[in-house]
Amino acid sequence: MSAAALVVLTGAGISQESGLDTFRDPNGIWSKYRVEDVATPEAFARDPCKVHAFYNMRRRNLLAGHVKPNAAHAALAELERRWPGEFLLVTQNIDDLHERAGSTRLIHMHGEMRKVRCTACGAVVPNDTDLSVDAACDACAKAGGLRPHVVWFGEMPLEMARIGEALSGCDLFVSIGTSGNVYPAASFVAEANAAGARTVELNLEPSLARSHFAETRYGKATEIVPAFVAEVLATH
Ligand code: NAD
Repeated sequence: MSAAALVVLTGAGISQESGLDTFRDPNGIWSKYRVEDVATPEAFARDPCKVHAFYNMRRRNLLAGHVKPNAAHAALAELERRWPGEFLLVTQNIDDLHERAGSTRLIHMHGEMRKVRCTACGAVVPNDTDLSVDAACDACAKAGGLRPHVVWFGEMPLEMARIGEALSGCDLFVSIGTSGNVYPAASFVAEANAAGARTVELNLEPSLARSHFAETRYGKATEIVPAFVAEVLATH
């Protein structure tokens, strides 16, 4: 028998203890900003300065010295290194804390805060500086066409074909720190169930998708993720 295939989905909850706000929690990002003002293509067309300011603020926060990967990110990097079968980590997070912890087989389905995309030539390049409406593209030199490399509401998440393929062949699906509010990520558990996978939710509290999971464990990511990883590595 071949080794089990594993897909892990992460959301904002895994980075909360690293000092990054989640979206829908009481003090979360959406308690301070309206989605329609900062995270849609329409918002960017209407007021690009406001959208740039929002992501400039979040990028600066991500790069602040106190923001570091935590024990849950580290446990997933170790799981990837030691897992004997297929492994894919799909994150909804646009931070780079999984990479900083050592994860490599990783898809950022909602894009990456430390990259910029040119709407003129399509180039996607690393960027750690503030963006503005008149900044020029390094690849094609056109000014005024740069946007954050993030997926906004109403846009298609990235690499869905690769994710769908992994889900349809997975034996174990683990969802960590996500509220189950945003589709298509919220429906991954149904795809994993259809594939006959064991499905596990690890979150601070029951998510909207909790009834679809065969197993659930609730607590802080830095506590329940390392414990779960130790357990699965001991039994596979
Ligand atoms: P969320 O804020 O909706 O949910 C976070 C979940 O994590 C909650 O269920 C919460 O209980 C849990 N949690 C909080 N602290 C925790 C901790 N310490 N340990 C474990 N769990 C904890 O975030 P989400 O589910 O990731 O949201 C969906 C995705 O939507 C986001 O990740 C984001 O990529 C995307 N999104 C992006 C934008 C954007 O700015 N472009 C806008 C909206 C949504």
